Amino acid sequence: MNFKLPPLAYGMDALEPVISRETIEIHYGRHEQAYIDNMNDMIAGTDYEDMTVEDIILSSDGALFNNASQAWNHVFYFTSFSPQGRRFPQGMLAQAIARHWETFENFKEVFEQTGVSLFGSGWVWLCCDRSGHLAIRAEANAGNPMTEGLIPLLTFDVWEHAYYIDYRNRRAAHLHNLWQIVDWAIVEERYKF
Ligand code: MN
Repeated sequence: MNFKLPPLAYGMDALEPVISRETIEIHYGRHEQAYIDNMNDMIAGTDYEDMTVEDIILSSDGALFNNASQAWNHVFYFTSFSPQGRRFPQGMLAQAIARHWETFENFKEVFEQTGVSLFGSGWVWLCCDRSGHLAIRAEANAGNPMTEGLIPLLTFDVWEHAYYIDYRNRRAAHLHNLWQIVDWAIVEERYKF
């Protein structure tokens, strides 16, 4: 299978000022595209060709794992935002967050701090196990909690390419502002318990 860059559900400037058009053009249009192109080049003519991206991630390592996982992570990341979404969780997910972190504000603070503390490049994740128990995880480089049997619910990209144009070196400010564009209706769709 030849994987394609999926279209965004919003315009290139729809997430401004949190994420600028220029960052979307480079981060989505070039970085995400490059990971997908690299993965396509590596799986051509191999047993990986007919697999899903998830199965490639779970059964590869090295350069193929890095590109397949970065492709998946970026699609997931850009699918979590919308210009007009619901900015707080409801229902079962809201209850699970309250059980684990007491308040939504506290959850966001721990999530941001986990991303700020990650040395170098990587991703900060909200994920859950098969019984719905939530966790925040920092994963270096292309890491994804699905390799540990966990279900990804939300991720923030902490690679410098995600924020350097708009925020320069201010990773903490970038992570803090992303809450303004997360659509919790989309995140809740991923939490099926
Ligand atoms: Mn990225």
